[in-house]
Amino acid sequence: MQFVESSVWAAGGGVYFIDGQKVKINLVKAIHENEPAIVASKLKEYEELNKKYSNYSDSKWLKGAIEVNKTHIQSIEYEAMSFIRNEAGNVNLSSMFVSFSCGKDSTVTSNLVREALGTEKIIHIYGDTTLEYPDSFSYLSRFKKEHPKMPLIVSKTKDQDFLDLCMYLGPPSRVLRWCCTVFKTGSINILLETLFKGKSQVLAFHGIRRAESSSRRKYDRVSVSPKITKQVVLQPILDWMDFDVWLYILSRNLDFNDAYKKGFSRVGCWCCPNNSNWAEYLAKIYMPEQSMAFTNLLYDFAKKVGKKDWKEYIDSGNWKARQGGNGLENSKSAILQVTECVNNENAYNFELTRPITDALYELFKPFGIIDKTMGNQRLGEVYVLNRSDSMPLLKIAGKLGQNRLRLSILNYRGPFRARNNVESYLKAQITKYQTCIGCYSCPSICKHSAIRVENKKPGGVDPSTINYQIDEKKCVGCLECILHHNNGCYIKKVVRVSNDKLQI
Ligand code: SF4
Ligand code: SF4
Ligand code: SF4
Repeated sequence: MQFVESSVWAAGGGVYFIDGQKVKINLVKAIHENEPAIVASKLKEYEELNKKYSNYSDSKWLKGAIEVNKTHIQSIEYEAMSFIRNEAGNVNLSSMFVSFSCGKDSTVTSNLVREALGTEKIIHIYGDTTLEYPDSFSYLSRFKKEHPKMPLIVSKTKDQDFLDLCMYLGPPSRVLRWCCTVFKTGSINILLETLFKGKSQVLAFHGIRRAESSSRRKYDRVSVSPKITKQVVLQPILDWMDFDVWLYILSRNLDFNDAYKKGFSRVGCWCCPNNSNWAEYLAKIYMPEQSMAFTNLLYDFAKKVGKKDWKEYIDSGNWKARQGGNGLENSKSAILQVTECVNNENAYNFELTRPITDALYELFKPFGIIDKTMGNQRLGEVYVLNRSDSMPLLKIAGKLGQNRLRLSILNYRGPFRARNNVESYLKAQITKYQTCIGCYSCPSICKHSAIRVENKKPGGVDPSTINYQIDEKKCVGCLECILHHNNGCYIKKVVRVSNDKLQI
C-alpha cells in the first residue's frame, strides 16, 4: 500500500518511475519474499481500489510527459506513416495485412497503417498459438468491436495440442522453439495460402522493433520473409523505443492489452521458455491453474526422461536450456538404421521404425513420377521415373506393413545428377517418414504450394496419423523441401540425441 496514491510506471528491468522519480526495485527479492498465492489474494482484496487507481488519464505526470515529447511523437509518427504510404500506397488492400498479436507494438502498427492508408478495411491476422494470455482475448474482442469494418481473422492450428506435444517432443526450450513452427508459422502459412491464393506477393505489416532483442538489431525495415513465402515484410516502427510506443499509445488514447497493467512487459505466450522470471511469477499470480498444470507437466517430463533431480531441474529453470531428445522414447524415430548393400553399391537397406504404408511413396514425388505398375507387386516394388524422359531413377522395394525397405538407385540423371548428394536426399525422405508429426514447416517451404500436411486424428501426436501429401501436378522437383532441413525434418533436430552415430 506504500505507493497507493502515487503515479507508478514500470520502465523494465526493475526500474520504476514513482511520482517522476526513478526507483530501482529488486524483483528477485520481491519474488522470493512474496508467495504468488498471497499476492493473488491481496489483489482480490483490493480489486475495487485498484480499478480506481489504475485510471491514469488524469495523471499530471503523464500529461507532462506527453506535452514535453509532443514534437518527437509527431515527428516519428509522420515518418512511419510516410514509409507506409511509400511502400503500400499503390497496393490493393486485398494484397496486404497487418500481423496483429494483441501486443503494444502491433497496436501501434495497426493504428499507423490505418491512419496512413485512410481506411479500416485492412486485413488483420491474429495468430492464436493456444498459449495466449486471457487478457489478450479480452483485448482482441474489444478491438474487434471498436473496428467493425476491419476484417480480423484468427489463425489457429487444430491439428496439434501443445501439452501433448510437450510430452512427445519435450517442452520447448530457448533453442528448440518447436511450438513457433507448429503453432505460429505453420497455421498462419496455411491461412495465407487460402486467403491470398493466386497472389504473387503480399505485403505484411509487422510491429517488430530492433530494441526488443539483440537478434532483431540486424533486421531490415523491408524484407522478404525467410519463413513464409510470398510475403514482403514491412516494419514501420523498427527503430522505435519502448518509450516511443507507450507515448504514442497514451497520447493517442488507444486501447491496449490489460496484461501490461498487471506488470507483464510482453504479451506473447504465457509459458514461453523465453519469458523472464518476473513474467513467470506474474503468471503464477494471475493464471494459477494453468501455471500449476504446466509446472506439473514439466515435473512429469523431467521424471520421464530420468532426471534424478527433477524438481530442482524444473524449479531452477534449467529445463529451458534443454537440447535434443535425450531420454525421449521418440528420439529413436530420428535414428536411421541403414546399411549399404554388399552386392550393389547403389542400393541401401533400411530398417524403418514404422511399417511401410502408401504414405511412404508420397515422399519420393520430389524426385519424379511414382509408378506402381512397373515393378513386381508381390515384392512391393515401386519405381520413380525421371520427369523429363521417364527413365527409371529409383526402385523402392518393401512390402506394405513391413519395416524392411530397399532403395536402389538406377540412374544418375535428373534430380540425381549431383551423384554425391543422392544418398543424403534418400535418407532425408526416410527421416521424414519416421519423424513427421505435421509441424507444417514443409508446406511453408514449398514455393509451389505442392505440399499439404494434416493430422488425420487432430490433437494426437503420431507419425502414422499424419497425411503428408505432395501434389504431382504442382511439384516441379526443385528439391527445396529436401535441401531446407539438411537432416530431412525439423523435428529430427528437436528429438535427436547427441551421441547418435547413425544420424545423417
Ligand atoms: S511459447 Fe514461445 S517459442 Fe513457443 S510459440 Fe510461443 S513464443 Fe514461440
Ligand atoms: S517432415 Fe518434418 S519438417 Fe516437414 S512437416 Fe513433417 S514434421 Fe515438419
Ligand atoms: S519444394 Fe519443390 S520438390 Fe518439394 S514439393 Fe515443392 S515443388 Fe516439389
